[in-house]
Amino acid sequence: MRDSYLSNLKLVVVKVGTSTFTSKSNPMDRHAIKNISRQVCELLDKGIKVVLVSSGAIGAGMHLLGLKSRPRTLEHLQAAAAIGQAQLMKAYDEYFKEHHRKVAQVLLIRDDLEERKRYINVKSTIFTILEYGAVPIINENDTVSADEIKIGDNDTLASLVTKLLGADLLIILSDVDGLYSHMGKKEVVDTVEEIDRRIEELACGTDKDVCVGGMSTKIKAAKVVTEAGIPMVIANGQAEEILTKIVNKERVGTIFIPRAKRSTS
Ligand code: GLU
Repeated sequence: MRDSYLSNLKLVVVKVGTSTFTSKSNPMDRHAIKNISRQVCELLDKGIKVVLVSSGAIGAGMHLLGLKSRPRTLEHLQAAAAIGQAQLMKAYDEYFKEHHRKVAQVLLIRDDLEERKRYINVKSTIFTILEYGAVPIINENDTVSADEIKIGDNDTLASLVTKLLGADLLIILSDVDGLYSHMGKKEVVDTVEEIDRRIEELACGTDKDVCVGGMSTKIKAAKVVTEAGIPMVIANGQAEEILTKIVNKERVGTIFIPRAKRSTS
């Protein structure tokens, strides 16, 4: 099954969640950022273009500011994101440079993906960054996105970016091995052909202190991309060589099969 959906990958969107970069004791694990950067460079070496959607700004900001819990007011959250985003990009820049690769920061808000003119502009800018051989690293522009213009979580952002670019695959890296077949059981579903009620019921939210999202936003993201004719894989970002294993079609994580033929926009 994976063979037919994961062959000839030319452009892949990889979403890395805050959970991959944080642990209870460390809201910004540089080792994990380094590890993901190296794996992305391995895909680039295989000739696969990669767009990274990376969370972690607020976590990195908390780390730098020495905050023990997630700020509660909007302005404190936005300030922490502004401080953390710079740290995050600094870390990516350093680790991609070790592989002689360039990175580009792209911060988006909802309007950028909804208004046609802005949408077309974002699309051509990202393709131009790729043409320059750099890796676009996308996050929501948390510092300016108040409630009404907010995308809210990076699973949704990654799904919208995947559709916008007409990428060949979305990989969502999380802190779980995939979609579990039963609540409370660690048995991963290998393939989801249809996102029905049962699958939706398997998704549950998380209320972790440093991150938003959970399985339910991932399932919604899967709906967006599979309906646009694009497959999606959810896998564990801390598992060894996970990106390479996915593109080598190994049976890791959960793959969501596209529902429709690829649409172009
Ligand atoms: N944009 C937020 C950050 O960088 C994260 C949103 C998410 O994890 O979904 O911290």
